[in-house]
Amino acid sequence: MKSRRTFLKMIVGLGAFFVPWTLAPGVWATKLEARLSRPPVLLQIPEDYWRDIAISPQILNRKALEDIKALSDPHLQGRRAGTAGETLALVYLEGQAKDLHLFAFGENKNYWQMFSIPSMAEKIINNRALFRPDETDHLLNPAANMLAGIVGKNPEKTVIISAHYDHLGVYMGKLYPGANDNASGVGCVLEVMRRLVADALGGYRPEINIVAAFWGAEEMGFLGSEHFVKKPTIPLSNIHAVINCDTVANGQKDDFSLWADQDNFLVKAMQKAAGNYGVDIKNVSGEGHHSDEISFAAAGVPAVTLLSKEWLDKNHTPKDDLSLINSDKLDFACQLVYDLIKQLAN
Ligand SMILES: [Zn+2]
Repeated sequence: MKSRRTFLKMIVGLGAFFVPWTLAPGVWATKLEARLSRPPVLLQIPEDYWRDIAISPQILNRKALEDIKALSDPHLQGRRAGTAGETLALVYLEGQAKDLHLFAFGENKNYWQMFSIPSMAEKIINNRALFRPDETDHLLNPAANMLAGIVGKNPEKTVIISAHYDHLGVYMGKLYPGANDNASGVGCVLEVMRRLVADALGGYRPEINIVAAFWGAEEMGFLGSEHFVKKPTIPLSNIHAVINCDTVANGQKDDFSLWADQDNFLVKAMQKAAGNYGVDIKNVSGEGHHSDEISFAAAGVPAVTLLSKEWLDKNHTPKDDLSLINSDKLDFACQLVYDLIKQLAN
């Protein structure tokens, strides 16, 4: 009898401990997240989030050219999706995001979003290396996107600035460094984020989230952005716009083009941003080339890609190295994207 009473007391005691624990808001949020398979609304960061953060000027003032140097370095082996070179690039990007105290917008509150890619084989077509599906190999390889951003006053709405970070790797014993395609776009996104973080440290908080997205496996047919659209870590209906940068740093300083599915509001907004510097940018989507903007256009999310007018010069050849980069042009690309983001997130 006595031992039964002790047993009941134990059950009640355990219940008193576990019931409130399961009712705790954090636990509920995790359960809801699993149920809805989307991020919980836990993004309301404290008003003073940036107040106690100190970031060194070396980090905040880092230029896109330094990112291009790091990403096109031979030890990253051309950043082919599904290889160790790609993982090294991801580790680099994650380091930059952490240095800037950016929030994780990937899977399960991480920066990364993993996906699988089919085996691919390189082919030279019109003097450019391109990937085609490898019908003889049915193995899947892992690849990843990375998403990191600044939480806005209204965390329900997001604007994405993006760039694919993968390239072609090593083919027939030759390194394809991909300095312009697309370490330049990645550098541009990172430099813009650094400027926005500096603004946040100075007291400016954007109205909506600004998320930097780095897509994997673009060179294999926009596979990273396509995966994101199928399994978004940010609900697509909450994404106001996607500004994508691809191969932005070669050729004449003022010569840019745009790719967009149609003349959406982003085309006009980018043209306006360039117009402030007396520069005219045309939408040349009709030429049949695309970047990751196409994955979003297919899902009805307004998207635009900024690129160099002469993007095809040495593109997808081993000559796409640092010597192709015009740093004045790179600066101008960063300025245009920064101006546009300020316009959209205010
Ligand atoms: Zn490419």
